[in-house]
Formats: sequence, C-alpha cells, structure tokens
Amino acid sequence: MMELPAAGGCLCGGVRYEITRQPFSHANCHCRSCQLATGGAYAPVMLVPTDAFSVSGPLSEYQSTGDSGNEVTRAFCSNCGTTIYARTTRVKTMRPVYAMTLDKPEAFAPELDAWVDFAQPSVRLDDRLPQYRRDLPAEAAGLPPPPGRRKK
Ligand SMILES: [Zn+2]
Ligand SMILES: [Zn+2]
Repeated sequence: MMELPAAGGCLCGGVRYEITRQPFSHANCHCRSCQLATGGAYAPVMLVPTDAFSVSGPLSEYQSTGDSGNEVTRAFCSNCGTTIYARTTRVKTMRPVYAMTLDKPEAFAPELDAWVDFAQPSVRLDDRLPQYRRDLPAEAAGLPPPPGRRKK
C-alpha cells in the first residue's frame, strides 16, 4: 500500500499533484503511445480514482487515438514537458498517472504488464506478474468485470 497522500510533479516543479486514495492498480504500460509520450520503453502508471487526484500548474494536453481505439488525452507540463497523467474516453472514473513523477517513485509497485504485444525486445518482463497482450482488465481500472470474463 502506498503512503497517502502521495505527492508528485514535473521536472521543473511547476506542476504538482496529490493522490488521496489508493490507486485501483499499479501497471506497466507497454503501449506504443506511452512509449512515445514518455520516451521510455514502457510507462509505469498508477490507475488513480479521478476524485482522489488533484493537480495544479501549467498543463497542456494532447489528444490521440490509443492502441485501444479510445481517445486518450495526455496532460503534460507546458514548461518542461513532463507527461503527468492521462484520461481516456473509456473510463472517466480513473486517471492513469505516470508513476515516476511521484516524489517517492519507489512507492510504485507493479502488479501487471499491459499491452505486452508492444513490449520492446530489450525489456525483460517480470514473469511473476500477469501479462496482458493488450488492454488491462476492467477491474484494474476500477470497473466491474464484464459478464463472461474476458480472456487476457
Ligand atoms: Zn514542469
Ligand atoms: Zn500506454
């Protein structure tokens, strides 16, 4: 469990945020959009309840179509460009927050890998964690599981 409230922000310090409840899950996202948005091989994200996430500072947004086909809006610092969080048209009750922007990034404890179809060959996946070839399961985003459980 993460210590709450958990605070974080961008490289220049202009954007600050606070998380006041436990995330629904901690996930490594290997999707291509996250690779491009962060410049990393994958993005450690915390799926945070929307009403438990508050943010201030100079944010800009960029909207694109994710690998899921959903519209994904990513918010980043207008000054230094650090990607802070995203929101999707699929789930309005949850914000993926880019976990390495935490003041204590070591609080991130990955529970699963998502979009591993896009995982880079240089990345070694932790085989103790469940892997999802594409999107993570609904429960990991705080949604009820669909009737007749989806295969991963
Ligand atoms: Zn900044
Ligand atoms: Zn992603």
